[in-house]
Amino acid sequence: MASGEKVDYVFKVVLIGDSAVGKSQILARFARNEFSLDSKATIGVEFQTRTLVIDHKSVKAQIWDTAGQERAVTSAYYRGALGALLVYDITKRQSFDHIPRWLEELRGHADKNIVIMLVGNKSDLEDERAVSTEDAKEFAEKENLFFLETSALQATNVESAFQTVLSEIFKIHSKKNI
Ligand code: GDP
Ligand code: MG
Repeated sequence: MASGEKVDYVFKVVLIGDSAVGKSQILARFARNEFSLDSKATIGVEFQTRTLVIDHKSVKAQIWDTAGQERAVTSAYYRGALGALLVYDITKRQSFDHIPRWLEELRGHADKNIVIMLVGNKSDLEDERAVSTEDAKEFAEKENLFFLETSALQATNVESAFQTVLSEIFKIHSKKNI
């Protein structure tokens, strides 16, 4: 990216959810179009960026990962976040059962207008599915969240998940400027 890059907006989006649900691989897929099956727990990396064009404006998405500290995500992590991907693993029931707690924490810390997408990752592992699409959809509707199932491995819906959240943030943000 050229150093003289002109950016119209910078939107901070956070990734949250249990350890090993695939947050870091979702981010690697979105930011660098990469995937690794033997990814080590995220250490040190705070965020990655990717600049996209939405409605003729240049939008820099700044995506924060938990750096492997899922149990100790702090208020600094949520500060200024305009969007969130709330991730569970469709093959791990427990990671879905923990979603209400993550949502509560998120709503306790973040801006009240935050755009939230519930993400059921690892949709490529259909044979090991432990959370039905219907259950997740019902929860998302009840809580007013967007919802998609993704596969970071197969690059399914990762782009859509971020695009939806960023476009929605853009809508809210540009309304403020009318
Ligand atoms: P995090 O702890 O939430 O950041 O999870 P990681 O991104 O480190 O992923 C945990 C493990 O799940 C790694 O072995 C990944 O390769 C694997 N993984 C992540 N996404 C997918 C996916 O979409 N499909 C499959 N089959 N495995 C995945
Ligand atoms: Mg990670």
